[in-house]
Amino acid sequence: MNEKIFVTQPFFPDRKLFDSYVDRIWEGKWLTNNGPLAMEFENKLIDYLQTKNVTLTVNGHLALEIAVRALDLTGEVITTPFTFASTTHSITSAGLTPVFCDIDPETLTIDVTKIETLITDKTSAIAPVHVYGHPCNVREIERIAKKYNLKVIYDAAHAFGVKLEETKGICEFGDISMLSFHATKLFNTIEGGALAYNGNYKRKLDLFKNFGIENEDTVSCIGLNAKMNEFQAAMGLSNIGYIDDIICRRKVLTGHYRTRLDEIPGIRYFVPEKTEGVKYNYSYMPVCINPVEYGMDRNALYLKLKEQDIFARKYFYPITSEFDCYKHLPSDVPEAKKASESVLCLPIYYDLTIEQIDRICDIIKSR
Ligand SMILES: *Cc1c(COP(=O)(O)O)cnc(C)c1O
Repeated sequence: MNEKIFVTQPFFPDRKLFDSYVDRIWEGKWLTNNGPLAMEFENKLIDYLQTKNVTLTVNGHLALEIAVRALDLTGEVITTPFTFASTTHSITSAGLTPVFCDIDPETLTIDVTKIETLITDKTSAIAPVHVYGHPCNVREIERIAKKYNLKVIYDAAHAFGVKLEETKGICEFGDISMLSFHATKLFNTIEGGALAYNGNYKRKLDLFKNFGIENEDTVSCIGLNAKMNEFQAAMGLSNIGYIDDIICRRKVLTGHYRTRLDEIPGIRYFVPEKTEGVKYNYSYMPVCINPVEYGMDRNALYLKLKEQDIFARKYFYPITSEFDCYKHLPSDVPEAKKASESVLCLPIYYDLTIEQIDRICDIIKSR
């Protein structure tokens, strides 16, 4: 029997540290609704993310949902189909229409040269994704948004801790950025999420995350329930101290993968190693398989690894424009489709060992 290796494994902080926060929950008898730990965590994130404001949420998806509502979007939102279900669902569940834009095959993020051709008089926003933590072309998106008076909501679920232009936090761009702190993400609060932004959206986002309740006598909009609870905040406060160590460890693991995979024709690491001014977070280990050179396609490699108890993930597959609920919508996204059929995310997480990476790469090499 082989030891099973999954694509990811949650990070756990020191148990005593977590317990010290749990003791405070017991003493304060406060479980949710902007408790003291949530407020403390929010302030820590403002420092770390370098934005003026942070709004914590129970998960990343509901963060996107309340952001779409708080920005008063209407009509159409230009977005990418090479993403997780959440991005597209957050647009449609607010009664808006997603307009699928193809991706740049080099970075797998939205192809900025195609955005303007999709803008109509109904377009109200652009919703790009920093895929695998690789920053979108934020400056070009900013230029387009300004020119056509559009809002920009970034799905930054993969991009916690990423910096660009040397010192800027990734969430400093766009109107609002969404982060996910799901168990499987680089940084977790069990489940959880946040919106980070410089604009004046705090009051509105707070309304939408708590049923639209303005005060005891007034409910002013159709809000959701998206509040982060104190146990999630305790996990966040415990884990935030490890973040530099987590990213450092992943950098080492990624480096080893790259050295080993460079020996194998037809397998290419997908994220550019050095992009000018970018501090990367190594949140995923995506590889692109060229079936002609490698002698096997992505699905065959996925199954071969699975037979040996290595559980890689076809991420993102299928693209959201091919979901049953969206396939009736128009889309011309050949690069996104190609990527979804050739990318495989290999296991990467804090406790993964060099020996385990060698085992994975030996299997990939032994065609
Ligand atoms: C994880 C993820 C989300 C949703 O976050 P949850 O916290 O799981 O709700 C949204 N978009 C992308 C790209 C993700 O990877």
